[in-house]
Amino acid sequence: MPDTVIRLAETHPRCTVLGPGNRFVVWVQGCPLHCAECTSPAWIPQTGGVEIGIGELADRIIDAAIDGLTLSGGEPFAQAHALAELIRRVRTVRDLSVMSYTGYVVEHLRRHGDAAQHRLLESLDILVDGPYLANRHAALRWRGSANQRLHYLTGRHRPEPDEDSAGLQIELGADGGIRWLGVPTVRQFRVEFERQLGLTPAPPVERP
Ligand code: SF4
Repeated sequence: MPDTVIRLAETHPRCTVLGPGNRFVVWVQGCPLHCAECTSPAWIPQTGGVEIGIGELADRIIDAAIDGLTLSGGEPFAQAHALAELIRRVRTVRDLSVMSYTGYVVEHLRRHGDAAQHRLLESLDILVDGPYLANRHAALRWRGSANQRLHYLTGRHRPEPDEDSAGLQIELGADGGIRWLGVPTVRQFRVEFERQLGLTPAPPVERP
């Protein structure tokens, strides 16, 4: 895949529950970590999703009515070169806040990351590190398990109360379908939510 392309799972133009303020969210496709308890197993394969040019995605972010950009997935640091370039291009037009999730811990990225991963890390205002672990489930600010840490890497944001969940954003899509964004405060939220609404049950690969 060329460096000028990002393999994308999904985007959202205005999310209020994955970082401070209103944020454009980019969920990348592909994660090399393959955690057994991943809450988004459909986004682990490196071959799914769609490819999008960095310029096209940058334009969509620049045009959105937002305060910042949040990167999630999948594993953003598996596409570090392209995402660092995406941030650079966006910031030539708008000085947006950027937050990213990663399944790696920040110490690993600093010690063992490659040049592109260091560049992406240096581009971030906030990093949430570590994978979701169901046996450490917790309702915390922007994250769902107690091992996940919130790092304020620049002075752009004032740290928010750590224990307060940001809640969920629930929407009716243009196709009439219901979707939700954010970090659930309870385990098995997806299964229970879909059961109560009479929606198609989550596929069996979705673990708690
Ligand atoms: S690091 Fe995150 S996205 Fe990757 S497999 Fe683990 S939980 Fe899933």
